[in-house]
Amino acid sequence: MASSVSIQLPSGTANVNTGLFIDNKFVLPKNGGTFETINPATEEVICAVSEATSEDIDAAVASARKAFKTTWGMNVSGTERGRLLYKLADLMERDQQVLAELESLDNGKPARIARDGDIADSVACLRFYAGFADKVVGQQIGSNPPTKFAYTREEPIGVCGQIIPWNYPIMMWAWKTGPALAVGCTVVMKPSELTPLTALKLCELIVEAGFPPGVFNCVPALGSVGGAALAAHPGVDKIAFTGSTVTGRKIMEAAARSNLKKVSLELGGKSASLVFESADLEQTASWALMGGLYNTGQDCTCGSRVYVQSSVYEKFIDIIKEKITAYKLGEGFDPESSAGPLISKAQHEKVLTFIDKGIAAGATPFIHSPRPRAKGYFVDPVVFTDVKREMEIVREEIFGPVICIGRFDTEQEAVELANDTAYGLAAAVFSKDGGQCIRVSSALEAGTVWINQYGLLSNQSPFGGYKMSGIGRELGSYALAEYTAVKSVLWNVGESAY
Ligand code: NAD
Repeated sequence: MASSVSIQLPSGTANVNTGLFIDNKFVLPKNGGTFETINPATEEVICAVSEATSEDIDAAVASARKAFKTTWGMNVSGTERGRLLYKLADLMERDQQVLAELESLDNGKPARIARDGDIADSVACLRFYAGFADKVVGQQIGSNPPTKFAYTREEPIGVCGQIIPWNYPIMMWAWKTGPALAVGCTVVMKPSELTPLTALKLCELIVEAGFPPGVFNCVPALGSVGGAALAAHPGVDKIAFTGSTVTGRKIMEAAARSNLKKVSLELGGKSASLVFESADLEQTASWALMGGLYNTGQDCTCGSRVYVQSSVYEKFIDIIKEKITAYKLGEGFDPESSAGPLISKAQHEKVLTFIDKGIAAGATPFIHSPRPRAKGYFVDPVVFTDVKREMEIVREEIFGPVICIGRFDTEQEAVELANDTAYGLAAAVFSKDGGQCIRVSSALEAGTVWINQYGLLSNQSPFGGYKMSGIGRELGSYALAEYTAVKSVLWNVGESAY
């Protein structure tokens, strides 16, 4: 029996079981190891959490395999899978306040945003996939001559390893759990070691919703230990990952070296917004700030590059400087905060180093409300102007509140600048010329293109990257294909042997 901790939150005390969740039970890791999770706003330790190593991953995979072969997989109807997912969504909605506060404590983001954004979207995501659970159907395929008949079955792929990051812990949990469980896969989830608390709390809801043991397992672990063991595990049929491109490459290598498991990767980005002279500059500036600063810039679709047509460049910068004053950096439980600290000391140092490099390279910084703080991984937002395409701040994913603004003259130049990156996650076009919106969005090398808005995703629309931003698609009906294997059944219904 693993231990639980009591955590004081604004709405009361939350008990969080800090063990590994295997076979619907919280258990201690085989070697008894733990790691600490830290409040990024105060730099204080919140609690210690059990750390899974490869032996524990083996146990979780065995439990998931047993469930897949007995109580889940093709042994349970889609109606029942959907019912359980709907129940889970209801429970998540019931507990939204405590989940939001835990998320805020562990990640730093404002609790209000965690509740009304991350958790509301996650509940909707689970409901979206619950609706699909009894609608996963194949094709009937006509044949010639009519003595032959064929059809396809879309079968759950099996045991899925899912490795998620720290920037949207609950949302990434829902994006991965929803489609996997809907189609009949079983799951071994590894949350980020920086934000394990809500993933652990959600395990209690898995039990309460009535999922059979082993269908969902959760193994907090360090990436290089438990994450690597999961990616390389021969008993895992599919690995789904969200995080850095560097780690994504390792996951793919581990999959290739072990059992060639199916891989989906949602990686980094360096997304560009193109602002044409016909755009509504007031609205565009608001979207650009939201795109660059939402979640303190710790977003794979962060609108970190903004290119503005020269004729409106100066005016646009003036509006940005005025509007950025509405940005309120603060602690997660402060209802006035629009964004919190960065996640960790390492991320804090990394972002500050990028800012120094931008200044050294000759970009002009505009820093909103520079405020020395005694504690917490806070970074005030920085807007760089006069950026050049070869600067590191323009080429590398910073994952912090840093927006680079450059200029262009022609539509062709704008597209060329936007596509001048190894990444291809997202991009945006701001223009009142409909033809231009269509031309430019078609030419952009990105998995998501926003027109006259930024950053808004929908559970119904697929999400994923071109180029080095990833492989596969999450969300929408497209995500179901990531968790299914297609079987062709070819049937001889004639009487002759041939
Ligand atoms: P990361 O890729 O190291 O971590 C993401 C997840 O992968 C975590 O659960 C981690 O434990 C796990 N992991 C780490 N090494 C692993 C390995 N060898 N095998 C299996 N799993 C492993 O990301 P990070 O170090 O936390 O952040 C570094 C950078 O990654 C950020 O600065 C940012 O650029 C990027 N990032 C992107 C996203 C995204 O949503 N695309 C999310 C988080 C971080």
